[in-house]
Amino acid sequence: MATGNINVSVENIFPLIKKFLYSDHEIFLRELISNATDATLKLNHLVRIGEAKLDIGQPKIEVKIDKDNQTLHIIDEGVGMTKDEVEKYINQVAFSGAEEFLEKYKDSDSKDTGIIGHFGLGFYSAFMVAGKVEIHTKSWKDEPAAHWTCEGTTQFTLEEGHKQDRGTEIILHINEDEKEFLEDHKINELLVKYNKFMPVPIKFGTKEKELPKAKDAKEDEAPKKVTVDNIINNPNPAWTKQPADLEQDDYKKFYRELYPMQFEEPLFHIHLNVDYPFNLTGILYFPKLTNDLSIQKDKIQLYQNQVFVTDNVEGIVPEFLTMLKGVIDSPDIPLNVSRSYLQADGAVKKISSYITRKVADKLKSLFNDNREDFEKKWNDIKIVIEYGMLSEDKFFEKAQKFALYPTTDNTYFTFEELKSEISETQTDKDDKLVVLYASNKDEQHSYIKSANAKGYKVLLLDSPIVSHLIQKLEQDNEQKVSFVRVDSDHIDNLIKKETEQISKLSDEEKETVKTNFESVVPKEKYTVQLEALDSEAAPVLITQPEFMRRMKEMQQTGGGGMFGMGNMPEMYNLVVNSNSPLVSKILKAKDDAKKETLIKQSLDLALLSQNLLKGEELTNFVERSFKMIK
Ligand code: ADP
Ligand code: MG
Repeated sequence: MATGNINVSVENIFPLIKKFLYSDHEIFLRELISNATDATLKLNHLVRIGEAKLDIGQPKIEVKIDKDNQTLHIIDEGVGMTKDEVEKYINQVAFSGAEEFLEKYKDSDSKDTGIIGHFGLGFYSAFMVAGKVEIHTKSWKDEPAAHWTCEGTTQFTLEEGHKQDRGTEIILHINEDEKEFLEDHKINELLVKYNKFMPVPIKFGTKEKELPKAKDAKEDEAPKKVTVDNIINNPNPAWTKQPADLEQDDYKKFYRELYPMQFEEPLFHIHLNVDYPFNLTGILYFPKLTNDLSIQKDKIQLYQNQVFVTDNVEGIVPEFLTMLKGVIDSPDIPLNVSRSYLQADGAVKKISSYITRKVADKLKSLFNDNREDFEKKWNDIKIVIEYGMLSEDKFFEKAQKFALYPTTDNTYFTFEELKSEISETQTDKDDKLVVLYASNKDEQHSYIKSANAKGYKVLLLDSPIVSHLIQKLEQDNEQKVSFVRVDSDHIDNLIKKETEQISKLSDEEKETVKTNFESVVPKEKYTVQLEALDSEAAPVLITQPEFMRRMKEMQQTGGGGMFGMGNMPEMYNLVVNSNSPLVSKILKAKDDAKKETLIKQSLDLALLSQNLLKGEELTNFVERSFKMIK
């Protein structure tokens, strides 16, 4: 038996291993299973190229808990190691790797430890949970087995072993304070988390399986059961296959495999598959999205060669697509570095723009292939698309072909279609196209109704970031288009080129009405203006200038940063219809008190129709109304 010292300059590296990966102890299992997988795949390869002439069948990996001895076993049927190889790969190479790794990260702050845990420490991470680690291994080559032990110091023993079968068994003598790693449910949880899609079957215990009933079985005969290996992973997940080999149903099945607790079906998927200039495979799903983006639990998962790495893909996937679900798998994404470095990495940038392009292409083909279906899905996907249009210029350009603008009566236009549709009717005196929109069909009902009656189209734009989007669209159209909410500044003024309606009131009378109103309503809140509208139209209207309201909304949804305006005051236009009989009545009212009541009442009714009458004002209105009908 040989004993020796692992050759290191750092005096005692083991306490460091413990300290550094404190928050991420569990990754030891993933590391050891990754090694077992590598060893198995290496053997498969040797057999395939004819270098190892063996009948290996279907090698698997087994994880076993031995409660009596407080040990955890990871057993593979891979290439194994000779004694010389243990000396070389475990004592020298792996250790120097661990040493270098710790040296590099010993000064990084704790917030980065999650990333440290991603990859790098390999075999020696076993010492995070085990005081003593043993390796029993036998190489595929005809050489004696080897047995290595180390008790978490720089001393090890290496002797000839007694393992009979090819492969490697790692035995972890679990520390007193890491007992949870001897619990079935804990190990099962970790295997499912990290190894669900690893390429070699992983056995953890056994389970009962019902056999299909034999043809001649009696009606009431209980089904026969057999005990079979409990394989925790699917070694051939959908994303590793060619799109041509998969049906729609396979994608749906895989979605459920990925998110077993998710019952809602995805709307559609995008299969990613590229090997130049970087390697990337994966499947992204568009889920049904609600406006509440905070309740996102199932996230895109990042894998490296089928090993789960993280579900924090920030920096790798463009932000607007982090709302999607699915997997991406790439050996080309550097993992043991900080996020800010990641964002500057050339390969990662390319990956991010590749994903954006693929998503845009897919959306375009869905739109082209079945527009009707795309329109049906629009409400569930628009938030991602609109967000993407705002945040990525390339995506904005591509989205011109498929982004939709629905009207309040459910006709869907692309922006180009919309422009030609309304150019006749909705061009103002400066030749600007005026796009009317509503953000809420119920709240703005009366405005929509009267706009439609005049032959105008009204869009329904109700996502939370719409104010930003229309701002961008106006810019993109070089201010030749302006978006105006139906309840903003009175729309007739904006659009009509021809002569205005003739006012029934003289200029003098109009001035009187204006002063009457101004003496009753608060000046700092309302700008009173008289307009000659249809006599059937509402006598008094409240509008809020588009500009003011939009800036306010942009401030609320963030990212606007508009001219450093603090809290903007609430300002409204009070449009008084000089042709309304009620306004004539107000003008002619002899009694000042009566006049005031009429003005207050019409203002409140106008506010009420905009859902703006609240609190004390509402109480006063109700009291006044009761008095009036008494
Ligand atoms: P890495 O996997 O990045 O090479 P590790 O520290 O995880 O680093 O492992 C060090 C080396 O030890 C491996 O490269 C491999 O040569 C050897 N090794 C570890 N586990 C096994 C195993 N189960 N079977 C065969 N060789 C192994
Ligand atoms: Mg490894």
